[in-house]
Amino acid sequence: MKVVIDEEKCVAAGQCVAAAMDVFDQREDDGIVVLLDENPSDELADDVRNAAAVCPALAIRIEE
Ligand code: SF4
Repeated sequence: MKVVIDEEKCVAAGQCVAAAMDVFDQREDDGIVVLLDENPSDELADDVRNAAAVCPALAIRIEE
């Protein structure tokens, strides 16, 4: 699994961090998403898919 984020779309809502905190973080100053792990392990895959699904800005893309 490869994860791609679009910082331009991100509205700093933070749902991705709640869904997969090992993969996503937010910048201190403006809350924009930070990708911690571009190639998450299989055991994190469901959490990452969930993060992409709940992101209100559709800023998370998953390439399988
Ligand atoms: S859930 Fe989407 S909009 Fe919210 S911080 Fe994560 S990437 Fe940005």
